Amino acid sequence: MIGLPTLFIRTAGCDLRCRWCDTPYALLREQGTEWTVESIVDEAKKRRVRDICITGGDPLMQSGETADLASRLLDEGFRIVLETSGAYDVSCLPSSDRLTVSMDIKLPGSGMEDRNMLSNLRSLGKQDQVKFIIADRKDYEYARKIMAENSIPCEIIMTPVGGKEMGWLAEAVLEDGLEVRVLPQLHKYIWGDERGR
Ligand code: SF4
Repeated sequence: MIGLPTLFIRTAGCDLRCRWCDTPYALLREQGTEWTVESIVDEAKKRRVRDICITGGDPLMQSGETADLASRLLDEGFRIVLETSGAYDVSCLPSSDRLTVSMDIKLPGSGMEDRNMLSNLRSLGKQDQVKFIIADRKDYEYARKIMAENSIPCEIIMTPVGGKEMGWLAEAVLEDGLEVRVLPQLHKYIWGDERGR
């Protein structure tokens, strides 16, 4: 959904500790502010956007509330991308062609590769995404191995750590003929690390 005006809803709380995590302010529940599902929906309806990204932290640390929130936003006609670490069961989420689960598969550069719940791949559909965040060549090869050994039913995205230095990654994907999308983190080009953007 890169480039579309999007409202981000960022949940607080994640029990992974990726070495390159760029949202350390969202790792603890205490760093957040309490919102009810209805108050978030009301706020979203005031914004002039159709697309919403629910991200974290990891929204599935609060799976019941997140599933409820996604259902309510779908009821209101929004399209949703829900980002998750891949460490928690995604099957709790509502099924809709307006909900895309964007699920990370962690690589050695994150230090969190033991947390991958690859059984989640069976819960994903063709509108979903698997995302590899790639630190180096070792990560790239690890991602290729996972792609070779597992049936991935949806689009695959590769993004470099930091979201910008992607020349070598694009060259590697072309050389290996992989059917993946190589994407930057567009907001980092526009706003850098500024929060609230
Ligand atoms: S899963 Fe996401 S929020 Fe959690 S530590 Fe890793 S990058 Fe940070």
